[in-house]
Amino acid sequence: MTSAETRRLRALDRAHVWHPFTPMADWMASDPLVIERGRGCYLYDTDGRRYFDGVSSLWVTLHGHRVSTIDRAVRAQLGRIAHSTMLGLANVPATRLAARLAALAPRGLTKVFYSDNGSTAVEVAIKLAFQFWRQQRPPRPARRRVITFANAYHGDTLGAVSVGGIELFHRLFAPLLFETIRLPSPYCYRCPRAPARGCCGEPLRALRATLRERGREVAAVILEPMVQAAAGMITQPPGFVGEVQDLCRAHGVLLIADEVATGFGRTGHLFACEHDGVRPDFMVLAKGITGGYLPLAATLTTTRVFNAFRGRPEEGRTFYHGHTYTGNPVACAAALANLEIFRRTRRLQTLPAKIETLAAGLDTLWDLTHVGDVRRIGMMVGIELVRDRRTKAPYPSAARMGHRVCMAARDDGLIIRPLGDTVVLMPPLAATRRQLEDLVAVTGRAIRRVTEG
Ligand code: PMP
Repeated sequence: MTSAETRRLRALDRAHVWHPFTPMADWMASDPLVIERGRGCYLYDTDGRRYFDGVSSLWVTLHGHRVSTIDRAVRAQLGRIAHSTMLGLANVPATRLAARLAALAPRGLTKVFYSDNGSTAVEVAIKLAFQFWRQQRPPRPARRRVITFANAYHGDTLGAVSVGGIELFHRLFAPLLFETIRLPSPYCYRCPRAPARGCCGEPLRALRATLRERGREVAAVILEPMVQAAAGMITQPPGFVGEVQDLCRAHGVLLIADEVATGFGRTGHLFACEHDGVRPDFMVLAKGITGGYLPLAATLTTTRVFNAFRGRPEEGRTFYHGHTYTGNPVACAAALANLEIFRRTRRLQTLPAKIETLAAGLDTLWDLTHVGDVRRIGMMVGIELVRDRRTKAPYPSAARMGHRVCMAARDDGLIIRPLGDTVVLMPPLAATRRQLEDLVAVTGRAIRRVTEG
C-alpha cells in the first residue's frame, strides 16, 4: 500500500473509529498502525513493516495467521453456506463441533450452547445456573446469588461486568449491576499476609466460611481457573481450583469455569481445569476456539443441568436465550479445523519444550531493576513493573509505564499490550523456540530502555 493510502486510512480511522479500551484523545493525537495482513506469527502493516504478534491478536491466535488448514475449511464452508439460524434448525459444522467439544472437555460436559463472544457465553452460564435452581423439584429460588472473586474479569456486557472485580473497568457501572457475593482472590505478590512461599489460604477460608453461612443462597461460583488473566496474569497457587471445586460440591453449588482466556492449550493443557482434574458444571469457551479466526463462543454444561430444562413447552422450562449468529457455520468450520490442527500437529505435546524455553528466558528478566514480579502459566505471561522493587511501590498511573514499554517494543518489531503496568506476553502456540527467545529479549530491552533510561 502506498504511504498516501496509509495516511488516508489513518485519517479516516481517527475521524470515525472508536477503539475498544482505548483513551481516544491519545489515539487521535497518534499515527495509528494499520495492519494489512498476517502470516504465521507475524503481522504486517500497510507500510510493509513486520511485527511479531506477541499477544496473539488479543489471546486468540494459536497456530498463526493464514493457516492453510483453517483457510481451506473456511473457504469450503463458504462454498456451502455462510449462515443459517440455529433457532429451529441444525447445521452441519455446529453439530459436529458440539460432539468434538463434548469429547475433549472434562468428563460430564455433554451439552453445548453456542454464542459469539466470551461475555455472552459467561452470561449464558449465569442465566442457566439461575434458571436451573428455579426448575428443581421442588424449586429452589433462594439459590440466586453468584459468588465472584476480586480481580475477576468475565467480559464487558452488564451481566459479565456484574461478576467482574476489576475496579478500573467496573466501578463506574456499579449502579447498573446485579448484586453478587465478592470474595478475595489469591494475588500472592501483593498479599499483605503472604508467607515467603505458597498461599496464606485466606481466599479459600473466605469461600469456606461464606458457603457455610450462605451456601443455600448461592446458585454458582464463577472462576477463571489457574489464572486471572485480565487482572494482570495473576496465577493461582497449586490446588486452588481443585479446592474451590470441592467446596462447591460440598455445598451443592454449581461451578462455572471461565476458560475464555485459558482454553485451547494456553496453560499447557487443552483446558486449565485439567491441571487439578476439575470437572465444572459449566465451562465457558471463546477466544481460541476458532484458532483466532472468527467470533464464536460456547457454554458447555452437564446432562444434569440440561435435564432441568426438559419438559413440555407449556411447562415453561425452556431457556429463552439466543443470539442471531449463534452457531455460525463458518465459525464452527474454523473451530473444527482448529481442533484438527491440535490433533495433527500434536500441538499440546510440542508445548513443554517451548514453555521451558519461555521460562528460561523470563528468568533473565529478574535482573531488571524495575521488574517486580514475573508470573507465568504455560504460554501466558505477566511481567509486573514497579517503581521500587523492595517496597513493591507501583508507578503513578499517569506515567503509563506498561504502555510505554509496549510502544518501545513496537520500534523493535514486536506488538504487545499491557494490562496497567503488567506487560503481557501471550505468543501463538505455534511460535518456535527461537521466536520465543526473541520475544523475551525484545521485551527485556524495551523494559530496560523505558524504566532505566
Ligand atoms: N472471560 C475471560 C476470562 C476473558 O479473558 C475475556 C476476554 N478477555 C472474556 C471473558 C470476555 O470475552 P469477550 O471479549 O470475547 O467478550
